[in-house]
Amino acid sequence: MKRKRGNLSELMQFAGKHKYLTYSSWVLSVISAALALVPFVYIFFIIKEVIEVAPDFSQATHIVFNGWMAVVFAIASIIVYFGALMCSHLSAFRIAGNMRKKTMKHISELPLGFIGEAGSGKVRRIVNDSSAATETFLAHQLPDMAGAVATPIGMIIMLFLFDWRFGLISLVPVVLGFLCMFKMAGPKMAEDMKKYNGALEDMNNQAVEYVRGIPVVKTFGQTVHSFKKFQGSIDSYYKFCVSYCKKCRGPMLWFTMLINSAFAFIIALALILAGGEAITQGVLLNFIFYVIFTPVITTALTKVMYMSENGMIVADALERVHSILDLKPLPEAVNGETPQDNSVEFSGVSFRYSNAEADALKDVSFKVNAGQTVAFVGPSGGGKTTVAGLISRFWDVREGMVKIGGVNVKNIKHEELMNNVSYVFQDSKLLKTSILENVRLSKPHASEVEVLNALHKAQCDDIITKLPQGIHTVIGTKGVYLSGGEQQRIAIARVMLKNSPIIVLDEATAFADPENEALVQKAFKELSQDKTVIMIAHRLTTVRNADKIFVLKDGQIEDAGTHDELVSSGSLYAKMWRDYQTSIGWKVTARNAEVEMKGGAK
Ligand code: ADP
Repeated sequence: MKRKRGNLSELMQFAGKHKYLTYSSWVLSVISAALALVPFVYIFFIIKEVIEVAPDFSQATHIVFNGWMAVVFAIASIIVYFGALMCSHLSAFRIAGNMRKKTMKHISELPLGFIGEAGSGKVRRIVNDSSAATETFLAHQLPDMAGAVATPIGMIIMLFLFDWRFGLISLVPVVLGFLCMFKMAGPKMAEDMKKYNGALEDMNNQAVEYVRGIPVVKTFGQTVHSFKKFQGSIDSYYKFCVSYCKKCRGPMLWFTMLINSAFAFIIALALILAGGEAITQGVLLNFIFYVIFTPVITTALTKVMYMSENGMIVADALERVHSILDLKPLPEAVNGETPQDNSVEFSGVSFRYSNAEADALKDVSFKVNAGQTVAFVGPSGGGKTTVAGLISRFWDVREGMVKIGGVNVKNIKHEELMNNVSYVFQDSKLLKTSILENVRLSKPHASEVEVLNALHKAQCDDIITKLPQGIHTVIGTKGVYLSGGEQQRIAIARVMLKNSPIIVLDEATAFADPENEALVQKAFKELSQDKTVIMIAHRLTTVRNADKIFVLKDGQIEDAGTHDELVSSGSLYAKMWRDYQTSIGWKVTARNAEVEMKGGAK
């Protein structure tokens, strides 16, 4: 969606009742800019007096007074500018803070699938960095802009007060400099800035995904493949930066040269005005004044240049923040219905990811009765994770209906749905807080005894015993790291504590060690007692005893039945089972060979 309002009015929306701070900073900045011009006038008076009384300098009696006046106005300007920055910083931090709060609040209302689809690295960058990008603009650029507008006005007044010819000629490099800047900062630059931020975001995202994936990558020896994506994003960022720098090189060179060359223009004019004769006193005085005064032009112009660049950064940051704020939360059921039992049913469900070109699920129907344990198996990309996500309403279906206890999930209030369904993710995340608090996330008022009980059932006793402060140990602090399997067991304890009647288990694809795997399986078993369980099995180890197995392929249910029924039917599952057994055979043989080799080496 295209934003219609300007950057400023958008930013002011986040300012709340602190808008007055921003406005005060502008007023103070304009006053400071005006005060900063006054010392030049006093310096001019000093030079004028010196030239007029020459060679009898004893007659110059106002030099000290004029000098002090110049100092007083310079200091006054600095003090007022300091006040302007105080106001602008206070408002800038408030605005950035409000922006973060508003975006985070909105994210918490978005469909659960949002973070997974957007990529957590990207979301982090939008929430954190985009709001930070507005800080510099609000804290420094805006007050400077007010000052930069006031300075040329002051300059034009000066131009008429002194010699208009020198005034005019000192504006020539300003105009030329501006032309160069516009060439560089046209609409094309806004586009480039967007591309630049896009490339940076992509690199950021790939870096996060890369670092996160390192354990899996190492286990499966996919180093080259996974690094390629990251390398690709670095390469495209590098290419973009180099070509962009080259594009700006010429105009930037001219701009810097021109705004620093006002002297050259003034000297040329002085020589022309003298016309080969000795320069008159009046011309000399005005010449000296403009030589002193022109550096102000350079400073003002440089500020204006960075201002336009920052304006674009802010526009881009606001657009990114709006890419989140414009997303609609899933409509909440007005008069929520209560599920009749703990069954789960899909009827004619089709679903497509917002950024995908094909359906992830096509006309999928099945029913899981209350208390049953079912497993979804099938080739990777078949749609298993999507089924799991739709049960907890991570997204809304495109066609058909997902029902819990006979009620469409769209008609169940969000809180009620969350109380009914728990999800154990493959890569469960723990927060950097104590184990107690991590488990309590699912039930904030649970007692310590309840938490310990849940941890015990989730087979976490060994973890608690080995940690220095037991359940009060903060995860992620120095020396306290948990393996993937251990983290998953703690996540299971969290779900155990919540004790919801329907559990969706997304089984982890890889475990570092068999001991952990056995404990996780045992924890799953404890968790599943007397519950409706929907298991997403990426391997076939655990599905044999399921009440029913659904084989999902290309978004459709290809087969369904018990393990024995499916094996004897000779279907896709039977083939998968055969392959799986062969792979186990391979593992056993490989291990035997390893043992033999070790034995032989002795
Ligand atoms: P499985 O869990 O069986 O491996 P998924 O449910 O993850 O399968 O994926 C089903 C299909 O949906 C695949 O074609 C996959 O590429 C696609 N898909 C999964 N997640 C997304 C997403 N966030 N955006 C777009 N397409 C997706």
